[in-house]
Amino acid sequence: MDKNWSEMNKEMQTLLSRKATFQEGIEKLLALREDVFEQITQIVMTFPEDAFYQMPFAGASGYHSKTLAYSIWHIFRIEDIVAHEMIAGDKQVLFEQGFRETVNSPIITTGNELSGDDITEFSRQLNVRELYRYAQAVMQSTNQILTRLEYPDLKRKFGDEMADKLRQSGCVSEDENAFWLIDYWCGKDVLGLIRMPFSRHWIMHVEAMRRIKNKLCSLARKGVDPVAYCGFSCNHCFLGAWCGSCRTAYNTCSFATTSPDGKCPNAVCCQAKGIDGCFECGLLEDCEKGFYTPTNDGANAAKAQALYIRKYGKKEFLKVQDRLHQKYDFAKTQEILGYDYREGLRILEEN
Ligand code: SF4
Ligand code: SF4
Repeated sequence: MDKNWSEMNKEMQTLLSRKATFQEGIEKLLALREDVFEQITQIVMTFPEDAFYQMPFAGASGYHSKTLAYSIWHIFRIEDIVAHEMIAGDKQVLFEQGFRETVNSPIITTGNELSGDDITEFSRQLNVRELYRYAQAVMQSTNQILTRLEYPDLKRKFGDEMADKLRQSGCVSEDENAFWLIDYWCGKDVLGLIRMPFSRHWIMHVEAMRRIKNKLCSLARKGVDPVAYCGFSCNHCFLGAWCGSCRTAYNTCSFATTSPDGKCPNAVCCQAKGIDGCFECGLLEDCEKGFYTPTNDGANAAKAQALYIRKYGKKEFLKVQDRLHQKYDFAKTQEILGYDYREGLRILEEN
């Protein structure tokens, strides 16, 4: 489990278990949920539409054998049902806010009953932007319910009446892979439901989404020019495990993920100029766009590499990167090339 999320999760559970620290526990839970949700936001904002119905681990056992769209649907359908049918006793967000129509889902269940090609087909039908809005609405609505909870509420249990209500709601499929959920939820008190599905369930599925997205990125990079527009080498980049290259639709470099349009400014600028990379641009030395933003600690290392490519070509550049990595143990190129692009260029030339 992600170390940070695991620690937050543990801390939250300890805080919730004591009356004196209960409120602090709720705050920790909300902070954890915000952090985990941020990963979903990044994926939705930066990945191409077809990424959401790909199943790169089809046939594997585990949460990563699903699709990105399925994972989002499943996490938030379960949360919506549990938060509203069970804890708050009011209407689910899916029906209350009209998401059933806008998300375009053929089912209202949690999706546990789906497998294999049915998951792909289901995922292909979903409107991912609307699905994301649904997820956001469910998260916010659950957060409000959590904020209103008081310590004695944690011990509240759910009996047969609740189980009947859930069965009649049609929100859990009668398939054997899904129907067990009703007994599972009704066997827990509110504290148990906070653990699963409001925190641990999120973490497990979002971690699986990370695996799916990383695999999609590595598949996207196959056979693609490894020299990035800004002058970095994707083959030697410390982000290479989870970025699909700025030359594909799976560009998830740090500047792409933080740009409002989800695209790296250097890639956008090069494409607009019709050039192969910043190394072909006459404005390179003075450029402050994207990776060359002066506050970016890798700005001058990127520039030094682009200047090297301009002088010696991509082939030589990739060779010098191989040699640097053989010689030194480093993650970020700036650790070796420093923070002055002329000096960085000199180091590259010496190697
Ligand atoms: S961050 Fe840049 S250099 Fe690194 S893998 Fe992504 S596109 Fe390539
Ligand atoms: S202006 Fe800057 S970002 Fe644009 S191509 Fe030139 S060096 Fe690259």
